[in-house]
Amino acid sequence: MLVLFDIDLTLIKTSGAGMAAMGDAGRELFGPDFDETRTDFAGRLDPLIIRDLLRDNGIEPTPARCRDMRAGYARHLPRRLESHGAQPLPGAIDLVNQLHAVPGLTLGLLTGNFEETGRLKLRAAGVDTSAFVCNVWGDESPHKEPAREDLPPIAIERYRARHNTDLSGQGVTIIGDTVHDVSCALANGCRVLAVATGYTSAAELQRAGAHRVVGDLSDVEAIKAWLLDVE
Ligand SMILES: [Mg+2]
Repeated sequence: MLVLFDIDLTLIKTSGAGMAAMGDAGRELFGPDFDETRTDFAGRLDPLIIRDLLRDNGIEPTPARCRDMRAGYARHLPRRLESHGAQPLPGAIDLVNQLHAVPGLTLGLLTGNFEETGRLKLRAAGVDTSAFVCNVWGDESPHKEPAREDLPPIAIERYRARHNTDLSGQGVTIIGDTVHDVSCALANGCRVLAVATGYTSAAELQRAGAHRVVGDLSDVEAIKAWLLDVE
């Protein structure tokens, strides 16, 4: 069994530090008028966020500019995490620790974050990333137009390589806070636990087709029981 966690507003909150650091990178590269506040961030892949940020600022998103933005983002993020604050969401660390102790259960991250900045955020919030061994990051979609829907098969392939055993979609549960987390799970036949700790209401997550919706991760026993209840 594989349980895949989203990062932002599922495991941790960083109070806009990521968005601000992307804005810092843009201002450093393209001048003081660069504005990150008009671009949609929630539940999206970092490469797409950078592309749209550049476009929204009237800048052609060439591969070189996107690479420079990624590097600038990683440079500015630690300072922004420090000033904005990063913290785990209720129940997140306890749930991860408890699931980590379950025999036969593998944990991973399925996230729109780039690996280097995703790990910076988790570390700043005090989340030990060593429990997550089957990860897929926001730049790993194999397609030119990257999509979150492409990520679960990569995690499943990594599980297969690690354990030398097959895993069906039903053996995978994705935990996330946006309709993008829900749709990427459903598109791949995975189970999905939606958590309303982000900008999306429980009702909206339910409507998107989540198999279970919780307000936050604090009822660790009930969530763990649901996750392990697979026929
Ligand atoms: Mg999220």
